[in-house]
Amino acid sequence: MTFSSLGLSDPIVQAVTEQGYEAPTPIQEKAIPVVLKGKNLIAAAQTGTGKTASFVLPILQKLIDAPLVRPKRVHAMILTPTRELAIQVEANIQLYAKHLSITSMAMYGGIDAEPQKQRLIEGVDILVATPGRLLDMYTSRSIHFDETSTLVIDEADRMLDMGFISDINKIVEKLPLERQNLLFSATLSKQVRFLARTAVTDAVEISI
Ligand code: AMP
Repeated sequence: MTFSSLGLSDPIVQAVTEQGYEAPTPIQEKAIPVVLKGKNLIAAAQTGTGKTASFVLPILQKLIDAPLVRPKRVHAMILTPTRELAIQVEANIQLYAKHLSITSMAMYGGIDAEPQKQRLIEGVDILVATPGRLLDMYTSRSIHFDETSTLVIDEADRMLDMGFISDINKIVEKLPLERQNLLFSATLSKQVRFLARTAVTDAVEISI
């Protein structure tokens, strides 16, 4: 299996090749075609399996394929439980998007919100955010969700352990109804499935 045969185009394949990736990992083989088809996805995958690329690569592909009427308006939103993970996921997006003109940003609490607001004004295609700061930004009208067509909930089990359930629900109910939803979790516990029932309906389920 190659990245090209999964449906990814040259600028993306080139970027992962430059990272030294020789072939897709099992989660990437399973998830990438599902995401490219526009389906909702629930994936059981641990960190270290290549799960980040399994959602970032097809999201980039979809942004290339669909001409954006309004570029840089948070087309994809990735929720993470911690600032460290937000930074790490966004760093990966930059690597994978290095041959594309797609912009990304990591947004998290504990630091001054003003520079983050400025970045949002300049425009961001893919936002990686922790739930609390994202809601603050929404409340202060610094962010609009009207163009967000893809939602990723990363490390959903950790998200729930950290008490983010009501924040996630608040965010989800503000997003456009017409959207693709992807959920990744090390374990698919009862609580994770409960969250998925409202946020990620009719999903294809994969595990590795
Ligand atoms: P993740 O599970 O997303 O945290 O990824 C774990 C590590 O695997 C990261 O350092 C990635 O750069 C690396 N990685 C992701 N996909 C591949 C691949 N197809 N081949 C080799 N390394 C990869």
